[in-house]
Amino acid sequence: MYRIDHWIDGHTVASTSGRTGNIFDPATGQVQGTVAFADVSEVDKAVANAKAALPAWRATNLSRRAEIMFNMRELVSANRKEIAALLTKEHGKVTADALGELARGLENIEYACGIPNLLKGGYSEQASAGVDVYNIRQPLGVVAGITPFNFPAMVPMWMFANAVACGNTFILKPSEKDPSAAMLIAELLKQAGLPDGVFNVVHGDKVAVDRLLDHPDIAAVSFVGSTPIARYIYETGTKNGKRVQALGGATNPTLVLPDADLDMAADALASAAYGSAGERCMAISVVLAVDTIADDLVSKVQSRIPNIVVGNGSDPSSEMGPLITGEHRDKVASYVAAAAGEGAKVVVDGREGAPTEGFFLKPSLIDHAKPGMKCYDDEIFGPVLTVVRVKSYEEGLQLINDNQFGNGTAIFTRDGGVARQFQFDVNVGMVGINVPIPVPVSYYSFGGWKASLFGDLHMYGPDGIQFYTRSKVVTSRWPDPRTSKVDLGFPQNR
Ligand code: NAD
Repeated sequence: MYRIDHWIDGHTVASTSGRTGNIFDPATGQVQGTVAFADVSEVDKAVANAKAALPAWRATNLSRRAEIMFNMRELVSANRKEIAALLTKEHGKVTADALGELARGLENIEYACGIPNLLKGGYSEQASAGVDVYNIRQPLGVVAGITPFNFPAMVPMWMFANAVACGNTFILKPSEKDPSAAMLIAELLKQAGLPDGVFNVVHGDKVAVDRLLDHPDIAAVSFVGSTPIARYIYETGTKNGKRVQALGGATNPTLVLPDADLDMAADALASAAYGSAGERCMAISVVLAVDTIADDLVSKVQSRIPNIVVGNGSDPSSEMGPLITGEHRDKVASYVAAAAGEGAKVVVDGREGAPTEGFFLKPSLIDHAKPGMKCYDDEIFGPVLTVVRVKSYEEGLQLINDNQFGNGTAIFTRDGGVARQFQFDVNVGMVGINVPIPVPVSYYSFGGWKASLFGDLHMYGPDGIQFYTRSKVVTSRWPDPRTSKVDLGFPQNR
């Protein structure tokens, strides 16, 4: 048993709130540790330290900020096995998946290494006679990140790398289900040379989140998690005058056209539906298969399922680990249990044959689903792939555009013209063309549409830099005092 406390002002601070949560080992179902749940005074302490660290940090020159990010890149890279082991231990994902998470997170630190270039403003010489105009981007102040359980290292990296490089100080409130990676990240940032107080971690639940949302010294909140909480964070944070980006859930319906290479599509669907036990916001959980190939496609996906090795994430032979908690496992299983009653057909029932110790399910495949059924409408967030049969490209597109979520989608086809039309027509933020899980590289930005994102700016990349800075425009003139006179006219340059 171990205990996780807060990280404030460059060191671990033992919580005195008296409230804690259990940390489970999802592969065994046993409690392996506890995590402190912050009270209001502990959040206030972290914010006060971040506020105190702000003036010196925002005055730190860009080369030094970049150097710290370069150092961090090296440290994360050197410690990737250790961080990945922590992810597997608390989240349950298999080692290869954990290393993949880190590689994608690291991209964001690499992006932030270019901060001197990213913060360059524009300059217009002679906007008027003797007048120059330029814009600069300045940090917001103390900003907070609230993150989900499913990417305990990558999603914090989406946020803090750009936030801190832009000159803000940062409070991370990681998921209480797998809080250890955040602490290792904090230690590595310190080793990288980040001054104490610039990056802080408070652990906890709604109490900590609500205090971050109403604390007057928090300028902005980045959130990633489920849609109901994302909506709440956005509404509460903006009502309190904060800048907020809140990313929510998704089902990522994917269209398979008759001309697609069906073996390639089936490989991609099985990988994207069952990888990380379906606990990815970009997991494909719904397939829209055009009637003429639906039987073939379903049987090809079905044939791949028995080969997927389900087991403890630390076992190198495992390809899919457990779900995060027993409660979540039961919720996912309840969708499979209800599907037949809703009129769908359960082709593979992942409740059968799953390891009994730990929070395991095996992959499930549901066919003949329709809008209005829970297995289609809801984000199940587990290893369940639901197939809907459609008559045409147009019907598939319509279903995607009618979906409440708009995070990711993909189309599988060999017809470039149709793919081009799809990218033009589809109301979704991230589109894959023969690419499942089209998570943008770090120099683009990540974000869905509709109920998958509340706010105006997407996460990381160019939007991340915009989110964590505000623009200031300076108009400057160095006139000859001898030409000075009173002029009550509105300044103009014609
Ligand atoms: P969650 O919404 O339950 O929790 C996310 C964060 O919010 C956690 O830090 C949690 O402590 C906090 N929280 C939970 N309930 C709260 C409440 N009532 N009030 C205030 N704060 C609260 O999400 P989760 O289960 O940790 O993560 C899975 C969800 O995240 C899925 O819906 C998934 O699609 C989504 N997700 C989205 C993206 C994206 O980029 N769009 C990426 C990863 C995960």
